[in-house]
Amino acid sequence: MSTGEQMHALVERLYPLCRSITGDGVRETLDILNEYLPLAVFEVPTGARAFDWTVPQEWNIRDAFIADTTGRRIVDFRESNLHVVSYSTPIDARMTLAELRPHLHTLPEQPSLVPYRTSYYSPDWGFCLAQDVLDRMPDGEYHVRIDSTLDDGHLTYAEHVVPGQVTDEVIVSCHTCHPSLANDNLASIAVAAYLARSLKNPWYTYRFLFMPGTIGAITWLSRNAERIDKVKHGLVLACAGDAGHLTYKKSRRGDAEIDRVLQLVLRERKHEIVDFSPYGYDERQFCSPGFDLGVGSLSRTPYARYPEYHTSGDNPDFVVPWALEDTLAVCREALSLLDRNRTYVNLSPYGEPQLGKRGLYDSLGGRSDAKDAQLAMLWVLNLSDGEHSLLDVAERSGLPFDSVVAAASALHDAELLKV
Ligand code: ZN
Repeated sequence: MSTGEQMHALVERLYPLCRSITGDGVRETLDILNEYLPLAVFEVPTGARAFDWTVPQEWNIRDAFIADTTGRRIVDFRESNLHVVSYSTPIDARMTLAELRPHLHTLPEQPSLVPYRTSYYSPDWGFCLAQDVLDRMPDGEYHVRIDSTLDDGHLTYAEHVVPGQVTDEVIVSCHTCHPSLANDNLASIAVAAYLARSLKNPWYTYRFLFMPGTIGAITWLSRNAERIDKVKHGLVLACAGDAGHLTYKKSRRGDAEIDRVLQLVLRERKHEIVDFSPYGYDERQFCSPGFDLGVGSLSRTPYARYPEYHTSGDNPDFVVPWALEDTLAVCREALSLLDRNRTYVNLSPYGEPQLGKRGLYDSLGGRSDAKDAQLAMLWVLNLSDGEHSLLDVAERSGLPFDSVVAAASALHDAELLKV
């Protein structure tokens, strides 16, 4: 199996679980993920304060349906967990269609699809169904049952840390709170897991965060106040597996190193760069003014911009292995670039140093990329004034970052540069 197929298999495996911002669906998701990536799981009790928020009661659900008078299930949670509004309060009642109707959610414009709806912070119950199904429901009495519980419990999130040579951190986060939605949450979970597994002895310490959206990120931030100063860069992954091209949303700062790294990595691909806005995924929390971290967000087609978004159309068929693999490749390239970016000082800044007598021309002899390599050395020497990093050199010269790193390494070995 290719890596893309392996990630897709993980998406398929996690797809049936009924996740929400709390509850056993999240725990089961993390249990499975733990087989791929050792996780530290954290349980934060109901009622815990997180800045302006409070960890809510834990929601769990076992079954739900709307049945006709013969007992036949017309809407069945066992077929798809999208059929129940997330955080629905329990109910077991008989009612007419007219009484039921205010609790039914459909997509009249996409009549065959089931929408995804939540009601986390205002107690309510509801069902989501295809408009086509609703249109076929005759007036009359229905048995409505939601076997759910809202109790004091916990909010569950997980971390995986890849220790680096320095304690400065890069965070990679993705949300874990959506039920059977494949691109919107599972694709990024799969990419993050395989990204974490690919890191070997990195420069930075990498902290992967698997948390429910909004309340999870706010809870994590509130419990990690002492760590925030260590977080130098970050990336929020979302909608990572559809067939669209990649989209990078810049941090609130707009010129953070991660913003420049992603723009450089995406330079040679079809892509889109969008400015920060306080809407979307957990970049909203990391980039809130009290933190203003250098955290951007990488997606393929961004949220709400594909018709399958937040519907039953966002199923594992909508996520394609090559796209997962492509997102992973860009993430790997970006982190590798971030990890190797250094700022040097030219130790021989008065005129160009003589490269030939140091064997720096010879070492390149005959190589087809010799001209690039030579140009990279000249650029690195020229810009290494202690103010410009290798990222600056790559941006300004248009040369591949790898060539710039190779040039810097050769010049460093020849004692023409120091960090
Ligand atoms: Zn979503």
